[in-house]
Amino acid sequence: VTIAVLRETSPNERRVALTPEVAKKLKGRGASILVEQGAGTSAGFGDVQYRDAEIVSGAGATLERSDVLLKVQPPSLEEIRNLREGSIVVGYLQPHLDPERTRLLRERKITAFAMELLPRTTRAQAMDVLSSQAAVAGYKAVLIAAEASPKFFPMLTTAAGTIRPSKVLVVGAGVAGLQAIATARRLGAQVEGFDVRPETKEQIESLGAKFLDLGVSAAGSGGYARELTAEEREQQQRALAEHLKGIDVVVTTAAVPGRKAPRIITGAMVSGMKLGAVIVDIAAETGGNVEGTEAGKTVVTDNGVSLIGPVNLAASAPIHASEMYSRNLYNFLELSLKDGAITLDWDDELIAKTCLTHAGEIRHEPTRQLVE
Ligand code: NAD
Repeated sequence: VTIAVLRETSPNERRVALTPEVAKKLKGRGASILVEQGAGTSAGFGDVQYRDAEIVSGAGATLERSDVLLKVQPPSLEEIRNLREGSIVVGYLQPHLDPERTRLLRERKITAFAMELLPRTTRAQAMDVLSSQAAVAGYKAVLIAAEASPKFFPMLTTAAGTIRPSKVLVVGAGVAGLQAIATARRLGAQVEGFDVRPETKEQIESLGAKFLDLGVSAAGSGGYARELTAEEREQQQRALAEHLKGIDVVVTTAAVPGRKAPRIITGAMVSGMKLGAVIVDIAAETGGNVEGTEAGKTVVTDNGVSLIGPVNLAASAPIHASEMYSRNLYNFLELSLKDGAITLDWDDELIAKTCLTHAGEIRHEPTRQLVE
């Protein structure tokens, strides 16, 4: 089987879906590897580092010869047209964004695996791109906040007197939130976190942060949160508004699968915050946890609070983000790759549930309804 990687063409995307390390491992399992010239450059991997691959000039020439295409961002319509009929594509496919793309994948009989559909079971952990990339986002969000803040994070005892540590609040303690807490702690801030899943209390405390109890518990199915009822939301907001008045930096990471990001911090709460406070809203791209944040922008409110809505944070640490992403894809391919050939086991739920299109059919029901 021939496995290929292209240079990502989306704006702001610096990651690459295949690193030299993983190219070597795939070759070791009998695959031939094609790398489009320059595919890894923006991620920090030069062509010469891909010793186990053939470097090919141009996307068209690469796709012409490939059986499996590895991607970070969804393939463009042109890339799908250039894929060989019946070939495989694996990546973060975001089918809700563009039904036309799914139609074309179906028409071209592409077997498309959308890694964000991977079931989040214990066996799937090593393939979970949402987790690996969320960790990068949580880390980076705190660095952005620290950079924008007019204060130090750590406590300093100096000849010029004592500097008190910044108070950081992390909203949502999933993968991104826990990494944000850990990062803010390493910078020496006084950190608090909260989540609606009660099991996060212990996880937050184990990182040396304080669990902020707002009296709302809303564990849903599969280890995820459920949406709050109106009453629960009110309770959460009342307690939070008061607390935010003393906070210097907020990082928000809350999400509910398949929904718009929950609105947790209202404009009124922001108005009650200190001059110079900073909020970084990781969920800005999916609707925002904070009223007034805009994806890709920094908004400074009338009372001097900076609302920062970063986009594609994972791409801003492209070497390590690509290393983890590429290993995730390797672990997924390993389910099907033996002696240089791919055999898909449709009885394996990790294969079946991650599949978006196969053999001219849309296999993911919500996407099928969206497209038809
Ligand atoms: P996510 O990105 O969907 O959500 C982030 C966090 O926001 C979650 O912790 C959620 O509880 C929280 N949240 C939602 N609504 C909220 C509200 N109104 N107020 C405060 N917080 C709110 O979650 P995630 O980081 O992808 O993962 C969540 C859970 O799934 C974790 O327990 C994680 O360990 C687990 N998980 C398991 C696997 C696996 O086993 N393969 C993989 C990834 C994650």
